[in-house]
Amino acid sequence: MSRSADGAARAVAALRARGELWEPAPGLVGLRGDALALRNAIERELAALAAACVHELGGDEWLVPPALPLATLERAGYFASFPHWLTLASHLSDDPAALERVASSARPADAARSALAPAGAALPPAACYHVYAALADATLDGPRAVTVQCTCWRHEGERHRALERGWAFTMREAVCLGDDDAVGRFAERGTERALALAGTLGIGARFALAVDPFFAPTARGRALLQRVKALKHELLLPLGDDAEVAAASVNVHERFFGESFGILLEDGTPASGACVAFGVERWLLAFLAAHGPDARDWPSVEGGSRPSAKAVAESREPRAASRRS
Ligand SMILES: [Zn+2]
Repeated sequence: MSRSADGAARAVAALRARGELWEPAPGLVGLRGDALALRNAIERELAALAAACVHELGGDEWLVPPALPLATLERAGYFASFPHWLTLASHLSDDPAALERVASSARPADAARSALAPAGAALPPAACYHVYAALADATLDGPRAVTVQCTCWRHEGERHRALERGWAFTMREAVCLGDDDAVGRFAERGTERALALAGTLGIGARFALAVDPFFAPTARGRALLQRVKALKHELLLPLGDDAEVAAASVNVHERFFGESFGILLEDGTPASGACVAFGVERWLLAFLAAHGPDARDWPSVEGGSRPSAKAVAESREPRAASRRS
């Protein structure tokens, strides 16, 4: 956060003081009590919103695995784009002598760190990679829409903040692959629904053009394309004072993942794609910033995911934002 966010900071401090929020390590947050009930209600609303986005295209929900093969991220061009965030999953060496040293060490946690086998999987940095991988080398007979949710991992050094920028956080996504028209309509409807939900939750919101923080010079051409072609938009929710948080993003990937994963339309051309992604904890934080930490002050959350022209009309002007693609 580049500016103060008093509403959000006060709410997080209140939850900590009540013992409803705790952080065993930077960027890893636990919740219980009223805060957890609210988080779960918001999670259900986002799930309903994403389900509505995919159901109108005949799509469904998938349960995705908790880790990804590294080869999937390689195929997605991830390593040139966002290597700075990546967290890998490694198990211990299966060498009995190495395991014996760990088991008998006076400092077994330290010993375990030096007994790791090379990492075989990545903890997902976004939910939609699972979908592209599962549809790899398929030919689609029409638009394909899927909603998925998973814990995503992005390591951001010293920048982690409770509920705002987690090392681990919950991402709900709706993903669509198909022809340009279907994908464009899907992105539009996702945008409308996200704004409408913010309005129903009593949270001021606006969409703004955004660009991913691509890492390698080779990937920065994609950043330029994103900006010039307006392929990425973020839903910014206020956190108090002048600060905002990017709580959702609408990402139009054009044919990038269709080409990368060999996902084709019936005419043999690569499918276009888009995803609409929601950060569950960021919605929770914005709700707390808007309504305070006391459950007695919270409006009802259930049943909010309906489009509303009013919410679209209430979009406001730019401010400093905390973003996450
Ligand atoms: Zn995505």
